[in-house]
Amino acid sequence: MKILIVLAHPEEKSFNAAMFNTSVRTLEKEGHEVKTTDLYKEKYQPVSGKENFTRLKNPDYFKQQNEELFAMEHSTFTLDILSEQEKIEWCDMMIWQFPLYWFSAPAILKGWIDKVFTMGKFYDNGKIFGNGFSVGKRAMLSVTAAGPEKNYTKDKYGDISSILFPIHRGILEFLGFSVLQPEFIYSVERLTDEERKTVLNNWSERLINIEKEII
Ligand code: FAD
Repeated sequence: MKILIVLAHPEEKSFNAAMFNTSVRTLEKEGHEVKTTDLYKEKYQPVSGKENFTRLKNPDYFKQQNEELFAMEHSTFTLDILSEQEKIEWCDMMIWQFPLYWFSAPAILKGWIDKVFTMGKFYDNGKIFGNGFSVGKRAMLSVTAAGPEKNYTKDKYGDISSILFPIHRGILEFLGFSVLQPEFIYSVERLTDEERKTVLNNWSERLINIEKEII
C-alpha cells in the first residue's frame, strides 16, 4: 500500500514521535511505500484564510470554499497546500498520529485539515460519504491521552467512539475514507518504560497485519 503518516507533536523525543517512527519503520519493512508529514518539524502554518491562495477571486469578500473552487481552475493554491494534497491523493491509507488535546486534535493538525481538504477536490455537492472522492482509501487515528481508560466511559468523559466521532464521521467518513478502529493509548505518561515498549511492539504487530484488517 501507499501510506501517508501525519505527525502532530512538537517534541521529537516524545512518545508520539516514537509511535510515528515505529509506524514508518514497520510499514517500510513490510514493503509499503511511506510518505510523511511532520507538522511541527515542517513548521506548518495552520491558520486557514486568504493566505491559502496566491490570488483571490474576490478580494472584497473572502469566502474560502468559493476561493477553493476558483483555485482548482486557476492554480492559485499555495505550494504548502498543493504538496499535501498530492500526498493525500497518492495514498491508499492515511494514519494521523497525535496526542489528544481537549478531546480533539492539536490545532496544527486541525489547521492542516482546514487547509488541505478543499471543496471541489476532496468533497463537493453530493460527493460526500459513499460518493466522496476518497472512497476506497483507508484512514486510522493513532492517539495518546493522559487520562486513564476508566475515565473514558459514557458516564464520565465519554467513550472514545463519541470523542472521536467528529473526526471519524465529520471529516474522514465525510470525505469517503473507510475508518479503521483507532489505536488509543490511555495514561501514557503513567505507564512504565517497559509498558510503553510493549505498546510500541503491539502497535508494530498491528501494523504488520493492517492490510488484512476488516473495517
Ligand atoms: P510524552 O510525555 O512525550 O511521553 C510519555 C513518556 O514516554 C515520557 O516519559 C517519554 O520519555 C517516554 N517515551 C518516549 N519515547 C519512548 C519509547 N520509545 N519507549 C518508551 N518510553 C518512551 N489528555 C487527555 O486525556 N484528554 C485531553 O483532552 C487532553 N487535552 C490536552 C490538551 C492540551 C493542550 C495538552 C498540552 C495536553 C492534553 N492532554 C489531554 C494530555 C496529552 O494528551 C498527553 O500529555 C499526551 O497524549 C502524552 O503524549 P506525549 O507523546 O506527549 O507523551
